[in-house]
Amino acid sequence: MNAYWNGHTVNIGRTKDNQRQLTEIDVVAHEFGHSVFQFTPGGFDGYTETYALNEATGDIFGALTEHYANHPSDPPDYVYAEEADALGRGPERIMYDPSAGPRDEPNCWSTKIPDTEVHDAAGPANRFFYLVAEGTNPGGGKPSSPVCAGGPDSVTGLGIRTAGRIWMTALMQKTSFWEYADARVATLNAVTQLYPGDCARFDTVKAAWDAVSVPAQAAEPGRPGDCGQPAPSFSLDVTPASVETPPGGTAASTVVTRTTSGDPQDVTLTASGVPDGARAVFDPPSVETGASSVLTLSTAEDTPPGTHRITVTGTGTDGNSRDPPSR
Ligand SMILES: [Zn+2]
Repeated sequence: MNAYWNGHTVNIGRTKDNQRQLTEIDVVAHEFGHSVFQFTPGGFDGYTETYALNEATGDIFGALTEHYANHPSDPPDYVYAEEADALGRGPERIMYDPSAGPRDEPNCWSTKIPDTEVHDAAGPANRFFYLVAEGTNPGGGKPSSPVCAGGPDSVTGLGIRTAGRIWMTALMQKTSFWEYADARVATLNAVTQLYPGDCARFDTVKAAWDAVSVPAQAAEPGRPGDCGQPAPSFSLDVTPASVETPPGGTAASTVVTRTTSGDPQDVTLTASGVPDGARAVFDPPSVETGASSVLTLSTAEDTPPGTHRITVTGTGTDGNSRDPPSR
């Protein structure tokens, strides 16, 4: 098989049996994929894993270009060099299940990857791309893709166009000596930048790396904070809002909390403005929003008579607080 990128040009030769030109779409696009890798930041200086990600980038551009061309004589797929039959053994690489290819590529990342031949070591990245594009069980005649041990139950695909945008945006953050761990961080940064606050897309990218056993990295971004959901918030009401008690007596009022947006949260209740000698006790002292607490005010014989404004404050676990009027 003879097709390569020499750092300046794509060179295309013939199949091993010398019967066909290696000019099928994914082969040509694979070689141009190497030029993209070379001319994005960091170039292709690196370790074995860098070269493996270079090969994966070639296969990814092969799949992207086949899908873009959507040609009836070379229908879009995620197998590499299936038309030319370059070496007389069918497709060279199967992105959704690398281990099913003639080279028996690994499906999952492991510490052996840095010692693996670079086209084979592209397997986990190829499958990452397939999972982001199509997911584990896309249906519609598209192949399923297995999940490595310890990975998620399933991954929901985002479509190949979105997967391509994410991979290209990640390549723009490439550095020399790029490794799988760096690609994980860069793609999560990419999805965060391209789709701010989009938890579904973020979760897919993360799950796809988990599905190919590339471990979480300290440098990777966290899940978008609000995930498209409103921030948790609550309201507080005190009923009755006004109570009367003789000196030395007690009076009770009910504090009603409500979740007004987001998830319920725990709220701690406090009272301020309680006059001398009097006490305010909440039972219970903290509630999950939606629940109530009974406020008992006890006065002493020497509590000064009159009208006192007592403020009830609820402090939520999300840090915000509510003060209804009360006395
Ligand atoms: Zn290549």
